[in-house]
Amino acid sequence: MRLLLFLCLLLPLPAAAEWHRESRDMMGTRIEVELWSEREEQALRAIARVMDSMAQVNALMNPWDEDSELALLNREAQHRAVPVSAELYTVIERALYYSRLSEGAFDISFASVGQFYDYRAAQAPDAERVAAYRDKINYRAIKLHPQSRSISYDIEGLQVDLGGIAKGYAVDRGIDILVEEGIRGGVVSAGGDSRILGDLGDRPRTIGIRHPRKEGEFAVMIPLADTAISTSGDYERFFIQDGVRVHHILDPGTGRSSASMQSASILSDRAIDSDALSTTTFVLGVGKGLALINSLPGVDAIIIDAEGKLHYSDGLLREQSP
Ligand code: ADP
Ligand code: MG
Repeated sequence: MRLLLFLCLLLPLPAAAEWHRESRDMMGTRIEVELWSEREEQALRAIARVMDSMAQVNALMNPWDEDSELALLNREAQHRAVPVSAELYTVIERALYYSRLSEGAFDISFASVGQFYDYRAAQAPDAERVAAYRDKINYRAIKLHPQSRSISYDIEGLQVDLGGIAKGYAVDRGIDILVEEGIRGGVVSAGGDSRILGDLGDRPRTIGIRHPRKEGEFAVMIPLADTAISTSGDYERFFIQDGVRVHHILDPGTGRSSASMQSASILSDRAIDSDALSTTTFVLGVGKGLALINSLPGVDAIIIDAEGKLHYSDGLLREQSP
């Protein structure tokens, strides 16, 4: 490694290499692409392709857009098996994998109840409504039919939302595009989901994990290269009702916001996995969440618990010890 670094230092630096950045508001969040390139035209094309790809994922998977494929699925799959794109099929298949792995802590059918929350209007469904719809949260009722690449729901009124996994998927597609375009260093982010390609030449990039209770401050800074990182926090979309923090990560068992921690950040190779696992870990809580992450090779976690205390997965503790 050290030798390799020495050899690199002997190579002349490309003349006009520079960072190119662009951000756009999409998918209800901020999309950012940043890359290192010697060729302006290569950089601009790569950024444009990533943004287009993000828009495509949004057009397929935004449940609030009635023309999206997911909205069609939510209307029709309770009556018949609906053929879907390879993209939507892949994301739902991966989501169901994490549902099984977490015994339902991660469940894209949380939206059967989640659809009645309006965070902007500070509205939560009352107890009767939650009781009437809670049984419709059940990932086992989402059936995949691989031969026809179609999907059906066994429960009437079941609704799917991919807010806990689609941004990670979109980020991975963005990184694939950068690689295809010959880019060797960059970052693609969609809100709390980021993936880093390469490093900053001679050192890793430093990523900050937001302080859950102090706006604009970081709780942890961590050096990262060639990895995805996703954070799920109770401060992203929330309001306070009768002293209780009502936020956008729901415990499928209760149909209510999970109070188990303040934030979960997950490191893994791919953003689809870090995204799904950050939401999963948040719902599982510190003990079960860390146990799950420690059982997955190549995956790590940084948790800020309900009291604001930090917890690390075994892989990070090993790295920190001398
Ligand atoms: P964000 O980056 O939007 O904050 P997170 O990764 O923290 O996203 O996931 C939160 C989103 O996941 C929610 O907005 C919702 O769409 C979805 N979600 C909430 N609870 C669950 C759950 N138990 N299982 C799967 N998805 C969930
Ligand atoms: Mg997530």
